[in-house]
Amino acid sequence: MPDNITVLGLGLMGSALARALLAAGHHVTVWNRTPAKADPLIAKGAARAATPAEAVEASPLVIVCLLDYPSVYEALKEVSLAGKTVVNLTTGRPAEAREAASWARGADYLDGGIMAVPQMIAGPGALILYSGSKDAFDRHEQALAVMAEPRYVGADPGMAPLLDLAMLTGMYGQIAGFLEAAALVTSAKYPLTEFTTTLLIPWLNAMAALGSAWAEKIETGDHRTEVSNLEINKAGLENLVRTFREQGVKPDLLLPMKTVIDQRVAKGLGHEGLSVLIEELA
Ligand code: NDP
Repeated sequence: MPDNITVLGLGLMGSALARALLAAGHHVTVWNRTPAKADPLIAKGAARAATPAEAVEASPLVIVCLLDYPSVYEALKEVSLAGKTVVNLTTGRPAEAREAASWARGADYLDGGIMAVPQMIAGPGALILYSGSKDAFDRHEQALAVMAEPRYVGADPGMAPLLDLAMLTGMYGQIAGFLEAAALVTSAKYPLTEFTTTLLIPWLNAMAALGSAWAEKIETGDHRTEVSNLEINKAGLENLVRTFREQGVKPDLLLPMKTVIDQRVAKGLGHEGLSVLIEELA
C-alpha cells in the first residue's frame, strides 16, 4: 500500500531517495531550500511543499537528507514534529544524532547512515544503517527498504552514525594502503592498472577474508599468533619505509602504523600478533 512520505533536502542524495520512493508508488511530498531542484521530481509525480512546515504536515514519515545537522536545525527550527516519524539520513557524528533525537520533540526519531552513493540507491549493494526508535523502524521498514537494504543497529541514535564512521575508517585505511602501493609501483614505472587488477586486488581479497578471525582475537583478547608477531612486522615496516625512501616516495600514510608497532615493541611486547595493537589505541 502506498504511504505518504516527505523528503526534505533534494541534493544528489535526497533526490535519489525521493526518486526511489516515487518509483515504488508512494505519495511523496518534497521540499528543498532551492526550489528548482524539486522540478524533476514534480515531473515524476511528487507534490511540492513551499515550506518545511508544509512538507512535514503532509506525511507521517519525514525523511531528512540535508548537508549537515546545523542545516537540519535551520530548516526545522520552527516546525512542529509532534506525532511524526523523523528519519534523519544527514551524515553526522554520534553525539549530533543523540542531540537531534532529544531535540525532535514529540517525534519518533531514527538516525541513519547511508552506505551508498546516489547512483546505488534502490539498487543492489545499497545499505542504510538505522538506530533509534525500534517502533519507528518496524512501522516503516517496508517503505525504507525501497531506498536501500535497511539494517537496524540499536536503540542508541548514535549507533548508526558510529558504525557508518567505522566503515568509512576501514575504507580510508584501504585507500591509504592503495595510494602508498600505487606510489611505490609507479616509482618503478610498473603499469599500475595491471598491478592493481592482477596482484593487489586478489591479495587484498585474501587478506579481507581474515577479517572475522581478527575480530575474534580482539573480542577474546587472545593475540597469540602463528602468522607473524610484532617483531617481524616491525622489521617488515622498516624494510618498507627504507624502500620507499630509496625509490623517492614518501611513506607518510604508512608511518602512523609503524609508530604504533615500534611503541609496542619498545615496551618489550613484540611477541604477539598485529591484532594486539588495539591495546595501543585505548
Ligand atoms: P548535496 O550537496 O547534493 O545537497 C545538500 C542538500 O542540503 C541540498 O538539498 C541543500 O539545499 C541542503 N542544504 C544545505 N544547507 C542547507 C541549509 N542551511 N538549510 C536547508 N538546506 C540546506 O549533498 P548530498 O545530497 O550528496 O548529501 C546530503 C547528505 O547525504 C549529506 O549529509 C551527505 O553526507 C549524505 N550522504 C551523501 C552521499 C553521497 O554520495 N552523495 C553518501 C552518503 C551520505 P540547496 O539545494 O538549497 O543547496
